[in-house]
Amino acid sequence: MKILVINAGSSSLKYQLIDMADESVAAKGLCERIGIAGSVLTHKVPGKDDYVVEAPMPTHKEAIELVLNALMDAEHGVVKSTDEISPLHNPANLMGIEACEQAMPGKINVAVFDTTFGMGMEPYAYLYGIDPKYYDKYGVRRYGFHGTSHLFVSGETIKFGQLPEGKQKVIVCHLGNGSSISASVGGVCQDTSMGLTPLEGLIMGTRSGDIDASVVQFLSKHENLSVDEVLNILNKKSGVAALSGVSSDFRDLQAAAQDGNERAALALKAFCYRVIKYIGAYAAAMDGVDAITFTGGIGENDLGVRREVLSHLNYLGIKLDEEKFGTRGKRVEISAPDSKVRVFIIPTNEELAIARETVRVGLS
Ligand code: ADP
Repeated sequence: MKILVINAGSSSLKYQLIDMADESVAAKGLCERIGIAGSVLTHKVPGKDDYVVEAPMPTHKEAIELVLNALMDAEHGVVKSTDEISPLHNPANLMGIEACEQAMPGKINVAVFDTTFGMGMEPYAYLYGIDPKYYDKYGVRRYGFHGTSHLFVSGETIKFGQLPEGKQKVIVCHLGNGSSISASVGGVCQDTSMGLTPLEGLIMGTRSGDIDASVVQFLSKHENLSVDEVLNILNKKSGVAALSGVSSDFRDLQAAAQDGNERAALALKAFCYRVIKYIGAYAAAMDGVDAITFTGGIGENDLGVRREVLSHLNYLGIKLDEEKFGTRGKRVEISAPDSKVRVFIIPTNEELAIARETVRVGLS
């Protein structure tokens, strides 16, 4: 994992791209005189001459763009694309923050982390079965992503369903292009399916989800690929897109399956099977479940997936309200009044959840 650390001062910006495998510095540098004449970037790669770029940097935005260009430069760069830098979304978020600071000077920017919800997990849930020294050294653990959505939807399930205290064991299935599932009690995360990165857990549009780590070594050896290249395949060229050979989009998959495409049908079956397994695991982990909520593009709309998953949960005593079952994209309880576990559809609203978190840190 390569982490780009940006340390922005008022007129300077220092950065290091650190390979966390051995904490070596792949590249580092400094932008000086940001906002005044004579801005200059000095980019250093071990074993190479310094790369000096004199270019205007009226704001930190231009500085970051120059840094990213230097990191990807054919001669002086150390990565081919920003995809090699983790976390993937940080450069874009940073640019957003910089642009907002420029357009709205003096306004406070608040960063809400998608991993916050996963901080509710206990060590026995978030640690991998590996030597904890890797957690101590590098923070290798399960973090979970889509946390903002899981926080919002689990909380709204409790409110909308008026779940009484002591009856707030909720499983949220966030099924979209990226998919994850969480178990929470009283809105506090007990477990969630994504891990150190969003690769773990459910089969997704293009991600494999859970996989034996040895597959990485096997494919690397037999296909003559680097670890990074195999991980790129697991993140971007796997999941239902690869299983079906049709698409990562569930509307396309459902249409192809209807037309008799067996691989599309298999991809849908495999996707649902993994959701069903996780629901079972999380019901066991919480010693029961009071409500199951579907959200995300697929969770809110795809009736085929909804039917397939719920038809395997009879053991939980779920009974459906067939009139409401087909509701799409709005808040609804689709379980019958005598169902032992309640089932909801609750559209996610990550923007509202972020705004709420902003208020929670004392701003408005
Ligand atoms: P992202 O992870 O990009 O936020 P979304 O939550 O928007 O993804 O979900 C996208 C997925 O939802 C796609 O696979 C899409 O086919 C599916 N989807 C959206 N609307 C429908 C629908 N009406 N019926 C079936 N699937 C749908």
